[in-house]
Amino acid sequence: MEPPDLLAKARSKSSDPEDPLETLSAAIALSTELSEDADALIDIAVRDARDAGASWTAIGERFGFSKQAARKRFTPPFAERQLANRRRKRDAACSFCRRPPGPRVHMVHGEGGRICDKCVALAGDIVAGLAKRR
Ligand SMILES: [Zn+2]
Repeated sequence: MEPPDLLAKARSKSSDPEDPLETLSAAIALSTELSEDADALIDIAVRDARDAGASWTAIGERFGFSKQAARKRFTPPFAERQLANRRRKRDAACSFCRRPPGPRVHMVHGEGGRICDKCVALAGDIVAGLAKRR
């Protein structure tokens, strides 16, 4: 829609089409509506591109911003939370075998890393084997 058409639309929604300030108020309201529609349009187009397999890098390039910025701008809060949970789980995993923590996984935490019970046992066997050879 061209600006003169938009002004005509604002005038038609104005409480007093003869009063330019009333038309301005209607134009402001219409502009908010249009920008919400524009945001929804972009969100749908981004979702379609993602569904079609487009990467965040490719999507970000179209906007002129980074992959991280594109993902942050268009990732719904729920998906963002899932991503954060996955990252938190990965960061809590065993530093040696990447086994995630769990009810049956005993983890020893150290500075800058952690080791699970299986890796401790394996390390124990290795050290015991080395000790026998001496
Ligand atoms: Zn481990």
